[in-house]
Amino acid sequence: MSPHATKVLAFDLDGTLTQHKSPLSPEYSGLLCRLGEKYTLLMVGAGSCVRIFKQMKRFPITIIGNYGMQYATVKEETPHNRLILERDNRVEVDKELAVSRADALRRKLGYTSYQGDTIEIHESGMLTFPILGTEAPIQDKLSYDPDRTKRREVYAQVVDMFPEYKVYVGGSSSFDIVPHPYAKLYALDLYCRAGGLTHEEILYFGDDYGLGGNDEDVYLSDVPFQCIDDYRTIPEYFKKLL
Ligand SMILES: [Mg+2]
Repeated sequence: MSPHATKVLAFDLDGTLTQHKSPLSPEYSGLLCRLGEKYTLLMVGAGSCVRIFKQMKRFPITIIGNYGMQYATVKEETPHNRLILERDNRVEVDKELAVSRADALRRKLGYTSYQGDTIEIHESGMLTFPILGTEAPIQDKLSYDPDRTKRREVYAQVVDMFPEYKVYVGGSSSFDIVPHPYAKLYALDLYCRAGGLTHEEILYFGDDYGLGGNDEDVYLSDVPFQCIDDYRTIPEYFKKLL
């Protein structure tokens, strides 16, 4: 990896630039501004563009959302920057089938006690399978599987149940289930094709590169990848690029 070839710095958000679902700090915002003078900056998120834009305090950056289902740019305006959603793809979901698959999975894995709904079906066509149910207390969710061991053990069985989807170990106690072909690497490929870029011209920063992680496909590809195991360490890497 030659740093001279890098044109685009691409980022995951949660766990890479911020603590999980926490706002971008003013310090990091300042560092990104300086990096933006030398490189094109790109967010590659699992969440929606709107969520990412808000979490980043309206920072002006191009955003790939929902694993490539969405794409947005930011118009710099006073008093507030404005998000322009340029792509917002949706995929039809067979709701009955999704619910019956979730229930079959619960029986198979012994997840039969849950609160609220058995599966969450999002407008985009993405699904969330919350092991403890949609309405479980947040403390129970947070303490369920903090190191992801439990979910990695059953990962292959969840994958088998949803063959038209890519499955991620997401949140604290759930699986994110995303319709094919959407995935971060797929989204980066689209971006590269549209901009006439090669993978080598991107440097990607992500924390979730293990089995079932939402950065895993990028990590396993030929896109240069900087692993971030603690979002508090990322300024060290930024300083080398400035
Ligand atoms: Mg992450």
